[in-house]
Amino acid sequence: MSPVRILIIEDDNNIRRFLRLALEDEGYQVAEADCARRGLIEAASRQPGLVIVDLGLPDDDGKSLIRELRGWLSVPVLVLSARDREEEKVAALDAGADDYLVKPFGVPELLARVRAQLRRGAISLSGGSSSQVSFGEVRVDLAEHQVSKSGQPVHLTPTEFRLLAALIKGHGRVLTHRQLLLDTWGPGYADRGHYLRIYMGNLRQKLEDSPTQPQYLLTELQVGYRLAGMRMGD
Ligand code: CA
Repeated sequence: MSPVRILIIEDDNNIRRFLRLALEDEGYQVAEADCARRGLIEAASRQPGLVIVDLGLPDDDGKSLIRELRGWLSVPVLVLSARDREEEKVAALDAGADDYLVKPFGVPELLARVRAQLRRGAISLSGGSSSQVSFGEVRVDLAEHQVSKSGQPVHLTPTEFRLLAALIKGHGRVLTHRQLLLDTWGPGYADRGHYLRIYMGNLRQKLEDSPTQPQYLLTELQVGYRLAGMRMGD
């Protein structure tokens, strides 16, 4: 198998060099671009398996770059955001980015996020036909609308089930409050964040061993939620 190529779109030379060294050291091939315009050309010509996009680029805002990439590129997009630009990060996820890292970040965190995204990409390519997923002791059959924990059936309301299904379809990616509200309740509910808190609480009560310290239904502070530890099949 040939190594995965990762495209880095980042104007800061030091961060680009740091990323290149860390990723090459792990055996990835790396391509670089220092602005959005160059990034689009490289993304089209180099066939990257994953793209890392800095949200503070000199010639475009990250959100419109991601929207443009998402028009024709299906590989995972990981965004880099500055700590004081929370809204930009959420907007990038809403525009189609898969995950984010907040600067400054370390090599282990970078590599963990990259591996998780590449694994997620491989699952959605290979496991499209299975309607059974599991996490921890929980088994979910999406087609049959059945949920069990440690072999015991768990009753979910239709809304709880739709929210769980939305998290499952995210394959471990961060889903913003807006995306989850739209998926679960539909248009017109995008600003009702309190619905989400209540229903995530219900799901944790029913599915987590320790609802106040969830292992699977995880909160991404000020961004949204993600489902960790999901496996396809039984
Ligand atoms: Ca920058």
